[in-house]
Amino acid sequence: MKEIKISSADCCATPGLITVEQAIEKILSQAVPVAQTEKVDILYALNRVLAEDLRSSIDVPGYDNSAMDGYAVRSADCKVAGNVLPVTQRIPAGQVGIKLEAGTAARIFTGAPVPEGADAVVMQEMCEQINDDVTINAVIDKGSNVRCAGEDIALGSTVLDKGTRLRPQELGLLASVGLAEFKVNRKLKVATFFTGDEIVAPGKPLAPGQIYNSNRYTLRGLLQSMGCDIIDLGIVPDTLEATLDVLERAAAESDLVITSGGVSVGEEDYVRIALQQLGELNMWRIAMKPGKPVAFGRVGKTLFMGLPGNPVSVFVTFLLFARMLILKMQGTDDHRMPRVSVVADFDWPAVKRQEYLRVKITHKDDRVLAQLYPHQGSGVLSSASWADGLVEAPLNSVISKGDRVDYLPFEGLL
Ligand code: AMP
Ligand code: MG
Repeated sequence: MKEIKISSADCCATPGLITVEQAIEKILSQAVPVAQTEKVDILYALNRVLAEDLRSSIDVPGYDNSAMDGYAVRSADCKVAGNVLPVTQRIPAGQVGIKLEAGTAARIFTGAPVPEGADAVVMQEMCEQINDDVTINAVIDKGSNVRCAGEDIALGSTVLDKGTRLRPQELGLLASVGLAEFKVNRKLKVATFFTGDEIVAPGKPLAPGQIYNSNRYTLRGLLQSMGCDIIDLGIVPDTLEATLDVLERAAAESDLVITSGGVSVGEEDYVRIALQQLGELNMWRIAMKPGKPVAFGRVGKTLFMGLPGNPVSVFVTFLLFARMLILKMQGTDDHRMPRVSVVADFDWPAVKRQEYLRVKITHKDDRVLAQLYPHQGSGVLSSASWADGLVEAPLNSVISKGDRVDYLPFEGLL
């Protein structure tokens, strides 16, 4: 990627616009984690954020156990291949055997406790049992195929820290130490509304000049996937009166209000004006594309984020700004944006607003390539559906085919 030299006066694109990084910093500086907590049953804990450190009251595994179906032995009895040992007991998972005497073997199955006296398990593929005797056709080292007590989690250790967002693998981990309920932060209440005289709910016929309210479904999906409680105040006409009324109601009921449309410079854009009248506007225009206007501020204690109206702008600005804001308000300790380096399979000119290009990932030889959706318009929602993620085209840099670029995968952001 080649950086273009520019004068310092021109360095942040159009005057009055702040950079994406400055916007993120400003937004995060205002975000306060929810203070209230509640007990949750592990069955309903997906996506919740832990409000306490969780320790284990047991070892996992709780006892030395077999990693294979095979024979438990004393390794001292298997120093050479071909030894024959009498099989003196059978230990399926869920049962406990008796002490293994020297010169004997125990038939054992995956997960069953290794009997006292045994120090290794031989996989059954290396053994041959005839009647009550087994031939061990290998040299066996001490500890082979034994999963030791506490090797995953030691009794008394911290399993997960306060601030951890619970993904499926964390739920499994908590279940493995026997925890059935624990303290989490309460859910974030996010109020939404959608401005525009032209927008209509899907399922209804369109009159001339109307479009469907796609933003509602994108935004609701994003909020649901982040585990927020949604207060959906619907479509709001383009008048100052209606916007003031809905913003006041939204702010009264929620921790955060997120809207679409009405934040630009047109005469029909009332959201920013309503925010200034009822509360304060802290940030507005960002040097990025799609999504230059993102109004951020507050009404009383409730934070406010007004996303642009264009459907791709809603999606991208949510992933860049609203996601981090929500994660911090939910009390998570990690709100970084996942980023990986890939190779551009396209050319892109130097830009004065940082661009977030919709790309698909392909693999060629040993390289991970980003392919560009041909139409990058902020209204072209097909680009977001087609893509796997976003390539960040930084300010004032030309991207040439073969250059390394930063890629933000959707699966890390959703
Ligand atoms: P605005 O920011 O209100 O000027 O809207 C910018 C563009 O986004 C316009 O073309 C709007 O028609 C479109 N738009 C606004 N709201 C929605 C919505 N809820 N769903 C789909 N498109 C919208
Ligand atoms: Mg509008």
